[in-house]
Amino acid sequence: CGIVGYVGGRSALDIVIAGLRRLEYRGYDSAGVAVLADGQLASAKRAGKLANLEKALAEAPLPDGGTGLGHTRWATHGVPNDANAHPHLDNAGRVSVIHNGIIENFAALRDELAERGHTLVSETDTEVVAHLLAEEFHADTGLADAMRRVCHRLKGAFTLVAVHADEPGVVVGARRNSPLVVGRGDGENFLASDVAAFIAYTREAVELGQDQVVELRRDTVTVTDFDGNPADVREYHVDWDASA
Ligand code: GLU
Repeated sequence: CGIVGYVGGRSALDIVIAGLRRLEYRGYDSAGVAVLADGQLASAKRAGKLANLEKALAEAPLPDGGTGLGHTRWATHGVPNDANAHPHLDNAGRVSVIHNGIIENFAALRDELAERGHTLVSETDTEVVAHLLAEEFHADTGLADAMRRVCHRLKGAFTLVAVHADEPGVVVGARRNSPLVVGRGDGENFLASDVAAFIAYTREAVELGQDQVVELRRDTVTVTDFDGNPADVREYHVDWDASA
């Protein structure tokens, strides 16, 4: 439902939580966050309101890092509980992914992954993506390349945002029939399902097109199609009043 990603010099967790709060009006049943710090992924997720997640974070704080993502879920596959909340991880705990939409062929992908020895722990359609990204990730080609290859295998409508512990300082997003917008900052960049999530920090937006993948680093935004060709994007200035 609501998606926020961040890479930059501030606390990713603070930015992501503030962004999720801005997206609360859309409605949701669960919330979760992941932060990359010191080469490790740390995440927390809870069914219910953002306040439940914030309580969990107050009791068991995550390390502070400049790369992170967050999600508010509106369940389509699997009941709203802690395990089904996003982000979802691969078995090694190196990839974290959040998702809006529906992966229509998830059952076939789940069976295939189980045959290859993966253990899936949720009832969501989303979790297969974390496992597929783990399989496709290679340190020399990176997470964006893995995302492009995984997207070719997915049917349905999706916005995906992922981070990998072996590629700190990188947030990757992808979209098909579901919105995803970049917010360009100074030494920091944002990714969200709606500009409302980052309007407090920047008004320079880049709207992703259909079937595109974006790689965010602190100082760069790289957009390609699912085959890795450079893609055209629409850059614009958000001029509506964010305080409304
Ligand atoms: N289909 C996914 C799920 O049920 C994502 C739902 C959403 O768009 O929030 O977990």
